[in-house]
Amino acid sequence: MGLKQLLLSGLLLSVIEPLCAAISIGSLPDSSMVPGGVAVVPTGTEANSGSYRDERILLADFDGEQYAIIGIPLNASIGTHQFALELADGRRELLQFSIEDKEYVEQHITITNERQVNPNADDMVRINRESAEMNRAFTSWDDSQTPVFGMRAPVQGVRSSSFGLKRFFNGQPRNPHSGMDIAADEGTPIYAPAPGVILTTGNYFFNGNTIILDHGHGLISLYCHMNTIDVVAGTVVDTGDQIGKVGQTGRVTGPHLHWSINLNNTRVDPALFLVD
Ligand code: ZN
Repeated sequence: MGLKQLLLSGLLLSVIEPLCAAISIGSLPDSSMVPGGVAVVPTGTEANSGSYRDERILLADFDGEQYAIIGIPLNASIGTHQFALELADGRRELLQFSIEDKEYVEQHITITNERQVNPNADDMVRINRESAEMNRAFTSWDDSQTPVFGMRAPVQGVRSSSFGLKRFFNGQPRNPHSGMDIAADEGTPIYAPAPGVILTTGNYFFNGNTIILDHGHGLISLYCHMNTIDVVAGTVVDTGDQIGKVGQTGRVTGPHLHWSINLNNTRVDPALFLVD
């Protein structure tokens, strides 16, 4: 084979390569097969793509083996769950993992602004529009970025273990708490915990000033109640870049950052990703 043929075959390989979805990552998140946790399951093969509950899942190579890294919803049932793999030869394979029970306790919160507990009709129009906008962002899939799972805390402050708490506002049951609250003074800088691209920013009824940060392959983080937003959609950030400041916008009882991590469009416990 001459130089020209070698170059040509190399070129062909590089053209064909993007068809294989494989990415290599430097570390895996902690596996925690409970509602609100993350299942880290070796696939035993080199699948092209996979899905769980009709959502695309993240597949990545670590230490020479492929893993499915799957976000488990807080409302998942206890017991055996299945996910599907699409193999390179076109076949479909089903794999299983088992979800164990985890008790999340109740949290009762008093909100003085009654409209933030029982919004009026106009508020509901706004809330529905905003939640559709955020839900769209959470389904983003960016193939161009390789997600980093070992994250730094986005703000220095008091971390609560409030993820998953069954919430009651003024005595009324609401959705469970889907993130981690970190209490800090208003104006404390908030940093990107891992590399990513700012997907969207906005001012939302419940979440206040908000950033959604895309880390690639369905790993997406959310920052709420900010005082200021210091980035715009499309800003590329590295670990440690300032993205905003702690505030108390939206439905809050005091200044803090609400931080959530989304994997396959599922809110999971951010503590599973923290390395500091
Ligand atoms: Zn919160």
